[in-house]
Amino acid sequence: MKRIALALLLGLPVVSAAQTVPDKHPRVRQALQHALRSEPQTIEEQIAICQIPAPPFKEAARAADFRRRLETLGLRNVRIDAEGNVIAERPGLPGEPTVLISGHLDTVFPEGTDVSVKREGTLLKGPGIGDDCRGLAVVLAVARSLNAASVATRGTILFVGTVGEEGPGNLRGVRHLFANSLKDRVDYFISVDGTGLDLTKDAVGSNRYRVRYKGPGGHSYGAFGMPNPVHALGRAIAKVSEFQVPREPRVTFNVGVIEGGTSVNSIAFAASMDVDMRSPDPAALARLDAEFQKAIRAALEEENNRWQSPVRLTLEVDTIGIRPAGSQPQSAPIVQAGLRAGAALGIRPETNASSTDANIPISLSIPAVTIDGGGGEGGHSLDESFDTRNSHLGTQWALLYVLTLAGVR
Ligand SMILES: [Zn+2]
Repeated sequence: MKRIALALLLGLPVVSAAQTVPDKHPRVRQALQHALRSEPQTIEEQIAICQIPAPPFKEAARAADFRRRLETLGLRNVRIDAEGNVIAERPGLPGEPTVLISGHLDTVFPEGTDVSVKREGTLLKGPGIGDDCRGLAVVLAVARSLNAASVATRGTILFVGTVGEEGPGNLRGVRHLFANSLKDRVDYFISVDGTGLDLTKDAVGSNRYRVRYKGPGGHSYGAFGMPNPVHALGRAIAKVSEFQVPREPRVTFNVGVIEGGTSVNSIAFAASMDVDMRSPDPAALARLDAEFQKAIRAALEEENNRWQSPVRLTLEVDTIGIRPAGSQPQSAPIVQAGLRAGAALGIRPETNASSTDANIPISLSIPAVTIDGGGGEGGHSLDESFDTRNSHLGTQWALLYVLTLAGVR
């Protein structure tokens, strides 16, 4: 923090000598070589981590294993915080920036999912193998390569495994880091999440709700004439489906799940929907949210007023998840550092917007990105795969990116 605060105070650009890509430094070259040579070990670790189940809110076994791996690397002050995040430190000099590199421990897969990993040629197949066992393995590989080449950094590096990145967790791990365990300690945040070689600089915010209309319900013939929760829900969905949103900034909405009713000849006592609204623009998301709140209340009024009945439906709105939005310019030093580190390795990352652990620091105006960990193929499915061809580039990129931000002595 201090260095940036001082630079701002003196009106100096925050891009400093510390953000030169140190790819010519002899020890850094050794570390990059080590990352290449030890990529098979990185992949072995990726597989081993992945075969420990980590459903949402049940990351403890994987966290304990990750902690042990960080301890084996000789990192300092290895600990698990009150939320379940694993944290380790590699100290630099006082007054220099602190760089955090993390992967997330949780998966989207429920308990009982077969998490065994199979190899098919260059492909690894298994739930979570890319998202985010790859990120965790890269975090470990960065620490291992730094140690193997005895790289001394100016800034301190924090190595972290977070809990609760996926939907149900609602970023609970990273929220805790910035509100509690690492409050005011992090100058740069890099999350390694998923496969490919791109860079997320903008945080897609999301507001998610479960909306439920409730009433006494009754017989469809005998109790006819009372407001109907399913009908109220239908009115609400009709309104949501007519929302007009801008294309730029991108704003999206979706009714993803509907539930309710017991039989064809019953007025239901409850009907509900799960709704997701997203945008990288906080103001645009807030406008859509306000329109949504109005629409679901209008639907309730209309259904209640439709009938001359003493019965009134009620509306319950539960927050399923709120992820803050935010963006950073392409010229932001943390973005430029990532692109230059990539270019030094001959890769050209594209920048994009996504919903990741970086949402929290970005929303707090702390420089933060999410980078892919190399390799290929998409996540969140049971036949998720990871292509190991040239996957060392992901490891090397993360390594050089961290060193660009932390500076080398
Ligand atoms: Zn992920």
